[in-house]
Amino acid sequence: MYEFETMLIHGGLVPQKNRQSTTVPIYQTTSFKYESCEDISEVFKGEKYGFIYTRISNPTIEILEKRMALIEDGIGAIATSSGMSAITTTIMTLCKSGDNFISSSSIFGGTYSLFKNRMKEFGINCKFINPNYIERFEKEIDEKTKAIFIETIGNPKIDVADIRAISRIAEKYEVPLIVDSTITTPYLIQPKNFGANIIIHSTSKFINGFGNSIGGIIIDAGNFNWNNKRFQNFKEFYEKYGQLAFLIKVRKEIFRDFGGCISPFNTFLILNGLETLSLRMTKHCENGMKLANFLKEQKEVLFVNYPGLKENKYYHLAKEQFNNKFGSIISFGLKNKEMCFKFINSLKLAYNLANLGDAKTLIIHPASTICVEFNEEEKRMMGVSENLIRVSVGLESINDIINDFKNAFLNLNL
Ligand SMILES: *Cc1c(COP(=O)(O)O)cnc(C)c1O
Repeated sequence: MYEFETMLIHGGLVPQKNRQSTTVPIYQTTSFKYESCEDISEVFKGEKYGFIYTRISNPTIEILEKRMALIEDGIGAIATSSGMSAITTTIMTLCKSGDNFISSSSIFGGTYSLFKNRMKEFGINCKFINPNYIERFEKEIDEKTKAIFIETIGNPKIDVADIRAISRIAEKYEVPLIVDSTITTPYLIQPKNFGANIIIHSTSKFINGFGNSIGGIIIDAGNFNWNNKRFQNFKEFYEKYGQLAFLIKVRKEIFRDFGGCISPFNTFLILNGLETLSLRMTKHCENGMKLANFLKEQKEVLFVNYPGLKENKYYHLAKEQFNNKFGSIISFGLKNKEMCFKFINSLKLAYNLANLGDAKTLIIHPASTICVEFNEEEKRMMGVSENLIRVSVGLESINDIINDFKNAFLNLNL
């Protein structure tokens, strides 16, 4: 077993099985040919291993799945067309109409909308809980509860969930804990070590790292008992596949039938980015800390949300959980919305856009963009105020980033 940095580069690729190719080959094909009817039939019946159709699996995509499973210490993974697809596929596999699940209320806006509106239309009820009040999770669990969903660091609130404490409740009631670790990546945390059962990433963000392809992934940590009375509908899969019951159920049912597959070419770009995850995240964290420290010294800045600041209420938890690394997502407050607009409009280096986890520094005013469809109460719950700005600190020279911000602050006072 190699260490983390080595796994990022070598995990899952066997050159001998890929014509000695040292880079992951792109199998840009829809389907795979068989020599005989008997052969293809065995693969269809699951009696023999093989590729059939890229919507189900593909050799390029399989390498990303194996690499991510190794990195997260899971038993397997399924790569999806987007982070949203990873979340939808997971919830739809665990819950059917009439079931419910519990989610942290401090989550990515797209996920919130999926949980609150779309899932309800399918008869699946989501109960939202502020992750600061851990005891409330327990109160909401009933016999129809099929999952607990949290994010490692919520954004744009930048709050940190106590994963271990929440996992104890999940474990007590035998409910799987799903952790979306997109903001932290495996560089900051392996959620499995804190009791997570299913780990999700939007690979569109830091995993790819260069903002060039949308993708997602579902990883089964291998530590949940799927032979469980809460999951009667998993029984058949458990008897056949044991611990792989969840992943195989995902692949053979919701993933295959809903069609949320990723393209081999996007997978190639994501794998390319993943090789440098460790190097990039080291710099992201360093630049994040420097920009947070700069921001808190500015007289125009009312508050800075960044768990790496010693005065931040999540500092100790984040330090322990994320191994003394704090990422590069910061939010901060100015006097009002007009100030925020003026500030963002004055920046020249930082891009005003709706992504995060890119080599480039990205900035956005959440209340008027990514959270614009939410009502006042929802915005409050997500920590989105009219005077809030979110930054994803990139890999440029920190001097240039800070100078860009300095100029924008000077502009505010003109
Ligand atoms: C972006 C994001 C998602 C959704 O991922 P997409 O790849 O954009 O579909 C989910 N969770 C978090 C935390 C994200 O930042």
